Amino acid sequence: MIRDVAIAGAGHAGIEAALAASRKGCSVVLITTSLRRIGEMSCNPAIGGVAKGTLVREIDVLGGAMAESADATALQYRMLNRRKGPAVWGPRVQSDLMLYAKRQRYLLSTAGIDLIEDEVVALSGQTEHPDGFVCRKRGEVRARAMVIATGTFLAGRLFRGEERWKGGRIGDIAADSLESDLRKRMFHVKRFKTGTPPRIVRNTVDLDNLDVQEEDPVRFRFSFREGEVSARREKCFTVRTCSRTRNAAVKYMAKSPLFSGSIAGLGPRYCPSFEDKVVKFPDRTDHLINVEPTGFRSRLLYLNGLSTSLPREAQEEMVRSLPGFSGALIALYGYAVEYSSLENSEIDMSLRLRRTENVFAAGQILGTSGYEEAAALGLLAGANAAKRAAGEEPLVAPGRAESYLGVMVDDLVNVKQEEPYRLFSSRAENRLQIRQDNAITRLMPFAIRLGTARRDDIRRWKRRERESGDITGTLGTIRLEGKKAIEICRRPETDVDRMIEAVPILRKYDRDTISSVILDEKYRGYIERSRRKLRARDRLKSVPLSAIDSYMDISEICWEAREALERERPASLGEAARLAGVRSADIEGLIIYLSRGRSARRILRST
Ligand SMILES: Cc1cc2nc3c(=O)[nH]c(=O)nc-3n(C[C@H](O)[C@H](O)[C@H](O)COP(=O)(O)OP(=O)(O)OC[C@H]3O[C@@H](n4cnc5c(N)ncnc54)[C@H](O)[C@@H]3O)c2cc1C
Repeated sequence: MIRDVAIAGAGHAGIEAALAASRKGCSVVLITTSLRRIGEMSCNPAIGGVAKGTLVREIDVLGGAMAESADATALQYRMLNRRKGPAVWGPRVQSDLMLYAKRQRYLLSTAGIDLIEDEVVALSGQTEHPDGFVCRKRGEVRARAMVIATGTFLAGRLFRGEERWKGGRIGDIAADSLESDLRKRMFHVKRFKTGTPPRIVRNTVDLDNLDVQEEDPVRFRFSFREGEVSARREKCFTVRTCSRTRNAAVKYMAKSPLFSGSIAGLGPRYCPSFEDKVVKFPDRTDHLINVEPTGFRSRLLYLNGLSTSLPREAQEEMVRSLPGFSGALIALYGYAVEYSSLENSEIDMSLRLRRTENVFAAGQILGTSGYEEAAALGLLAGANAAKRAAGEEPLVAPGRAESYLGVMVDDLVNVKQEEPYRLFSSRAENRLQIRQDNAITRLMPFAIRLGTARRDDIRRWKRRERESGDITGTLGTIRLEGKKAIEICRRPETDVDRMIEAVPILRKYDRDTISSVILDEKYRGYIERSRRKLRARDRLKSVPLSAIDSYMDISEICWEAREALERERPASLGEAARLAGVRSADIEGLIIYLSRGRSARRILRST
């Protein structure tokens, strides 16, 4: 039996890949090492955040499941960054992780996806056009297109103090065979690492001693559909470390696998372990720890900010030094995982492995970090695998100017990643346009082309576009204080409530649509400027470098870049920007150098 699409891995990437391919009418098989652990959140019990929350909204528009599942299993909603402008607000939800995984499993089974518990050990057949996966127990599973979404499992190694063992995460196997098959087929891999904090038995903590973090008063939901929203609520808490916490970490530092040289892989700078923080900021003792329940009335608390792979005794001392935690019991000790992920040069903008015709990859195997990044990539890879299975050309990701998905895929494909990749709003040149409130306007045309848009959503989008046009028209004709109302939108103090009060006819429209129109108008100037910058950047990519005989004497660029450029001889500035060792400052240096030549100057000026 040949399926249309086979997927290895049922984490956040694999689930969205399977659902997207199935929504496109494909027969789909999802192979995973553990059916019990489908959709598990291996680390923090939360979805969203700044930029990530916008990405979840994009997944929702593209027909994915993450936003609805987050709503259905929410314990607490917060809109991050509210002190800044609404353009960079970040929706985030504290989730019940057991219920979240259960819902994801349910969606897979009701979509008619075949679920197989087995380990994928190799691609089957020739690298250019494999005809399926080879599984450890079942042998060959044949398919027209494949997605590899195996997370942190490729040659995964776990570390805690001087303990080390094989695994993709605690309690799971390491996918050593698949990694060696990929290496044998000459795919380039690199080593990254990440880590997780200890989980604490809730009733051993004096929660009255901690600061409570309440839900935000701003009412919102992740999905733009009128789906189920959980009524269960849980409080979160915060606590600060003290000198005793730091001293415990310092005392056991020699046993840290991060500093003893046991772990060679690079970890995420933005999500450092506690021992990293102690080394980087030796004089600081008070680090904020968010204490988050892992579910509704759950037995366990997650210590967000205390990720560590120090030995058990160190973790006990560190945890018990926290106010309210003197009698705390650790249910699961923190640990680090080192794993292989594919080099960026292996994928193209449709997430296809370049040297194959029909294999795609998504999630942490591409060097990303986080559930949201994995899910968005999974959706694109799954839909494109379905296209390939149907003999169609896969779609490249949407542009950087229109989505965080586009920013992420462009960064992953075109910029050498030296550490696990996480989305930040600062990565997006056009962040005032790619906001959480307008994902449907930005991405529905792409969802339709990808073939993953739901019919009702298309209707909602059309209605919204119509309303949006009507609102803009109304604001363009009505006059307030001697000006067109639309011009008043540009004032910093104008918000949706004030505008409705001043122009009561707006009451008949959806509030969120009015708000998006106001924000578009407020940021119009900035948005135009960032679009121009992006266009200039794109044109610069094609500036040829063939006139350069030697890079070694170009004083505007650093030595490392000179060596890399001399060795690789890239054909264009775009190719140069992708080389390891060439940073954006070197590209600017090259532009200055090139602008001395007349023809290059002309090209540069015309951008
Ligand atoms: C210890 C740890 C700490 C983390 N800390 C953070 C953090 O602080 N911040 C953050 O943003 N993210 C963190 N993450 C990462 C987060 O869990 C991942 O980014 C996210 O889960 C990636 O999704 P994924 O779908 O790529 O992989 P996963 O969710 O890991 O799913 C991989 C799936 O593939 C299956 N699988 C693996 N190999 C095979 C095989 N050979 N055959 C069949 N099935 C296979 C597994 O069973 C699993 O279902 C951490 C992960 C771990 C393990």
